[in-house]
Amino acid sequence: MNKPATTAEAELLARAADFAREVVAPGAARWEAERRIAREAIEAAAVVGLTGVEVPPDWGGLGFGYGVKARLAEVLGAADFAFTMSLINTHNVAAKLAREAPAALAQRFVPDLLAGRRLGCTALTERSAGSDFGAIRTEATRVAQGWRIDGAKAWITNAAEADVIVLYAQTEVGSGSRGIACFVIDGRREGFVREPAYALAGQHAIGTGGFLLEGYLAQDDEMLQPAGKAFKSALLSINGARTYIAAMCNGMVGEALRVALAHGDARSSFGRPLAGHQGWRWRLAEASTALAAGRLLVAEATRRIEAGEDAQLAAAQAKLYCARMAERHLAALTQAMGAEGLRQEHPFGRHLAGARVAAFVDGSSEMQLERIAALIRPK
Ligand SMILES: Cc1cc2nc3c(=O)[nH]c(=O)nc-3n(C[C@H](O)[C@H](O)[C@H](O)COP(=O)(O)OP(=O)(O)OC[C@H]3O[C@@H](n4cnc5c(N)ncnc54)[C@H](O)[C@@H]3O)c2cc1C
Repeated sequence: MNKPATTAEAELLARAADFAREVVAPGAARWEAERRIAREAIEAAAVVGLTGVEVPPDWGGLGFGYGVKARLAEVLGAADFAFTMSLINTHNVAAKLAREAPAALAQRFVPDLLAGRRLGCTALTERSAGSDFGAIRTEATRVAQGWRIDGAKAWITNAAEADVIVLYAQTEVGSGSRGIACFVIDGRREGFVREPAYALAGQHAIGTGGFLLEGYLAQDDEMLQPAGKAFKSALLSINGARTYIAAMCNGMVGEALRVALAHGDARSSFGRPLAGHQGWRWRLAEASTALAAGRLLVAEATRRIEAGEDAQLAAAQAKLYCARMAERHLAALTQAMGAEGLRQEHPFGRHLAGARVAAFVDGSSEMQLERIAALIRPK
């Protein structure tokens, strides 16, 4: 992980590391067993500032740049992927509203999001449109008082509880990405119907699920971006999401490596510590080398995002590589642990499920390959 630029950033990351060790790592297996979002831990994270990293100070946030969020993602991801997803998605909604919404609208939501009293989510995906975001069917129709929204969203992080929703909807059926606009939806209002959270193979603290919009009425000032701008803005912000997902993958591998290194000294076979066997320690050497490469890719994507340079290629490469690297090396490091690696108090099983999720969210690995293939062609 590259170094924080200022003392304030370093202090925040040190607080985050303490929080990851004292709250997230010990709670993660329980949240998974209880199949729920860690609400109390998100409120505790808010107290140490973790919901406000990129939120401007005027709104009570810390006003740091993107790089701090990427580093935070590695630190928290090392303890639990699911918790980090839930927290960062709430943070992202707070930061977007503070920056882009009219002040009166932001005032209705940002303080509650910052305090962890309400959760946020960003809803693009639908049952019939995942990779093909331009094909969404949730429809926003112009009415006298604003926009009437009808449709259904699926596979949304925090959907189990979030009620401040950044939602993408089609304003002109048949226009594809051109007609997509972005709204803020208040899940406490009539017309919003939450569905039960999904029962999945793991990672339940993400609170993945869906909801319906049935004649939901959005006021004019609740449109965050109009048709023509929303799709482009979503694609721009996805570079940041891809990069912090990659950083979370690095965090998971770094933690698994730390646990496996300690195990290799503590446990013996055939008269010597596991680490004394060349075949055993080479697995760890390979994981450590791949992790170093993953961190360099994240560092480059982060640098580009912070500098305002085009980060599409760097972010897609970081996400593709780190998600695959995590799945491969988390499996190898679990093997290096022996059966001990399967115990719930170790992170290996949870992290493996997290790496699987990483291969889908914010664009699947195949979509990263498509992006990379398009961007490496000579112009
Ligand atoms: C835990 C979790 C949390 C999520 N959180 C959110 C969220 O907060 N907000 C949100 O909007 N979405 C969220 N998603 C949805 C996620 O973005 C989608 O899963 C992802 O975009 C892929 O869409 P899909 O699953 O519908 O797969 P599909 O689009 O149905 O694709 C199925 C498979 O085919 C591949 N494929 C599709 N098209 C092509 C092609 N042209 N060439 C080659 N291969 C192709 C895909 O890569 C995939 O492997 C979440 C998903 C998960 C699992």
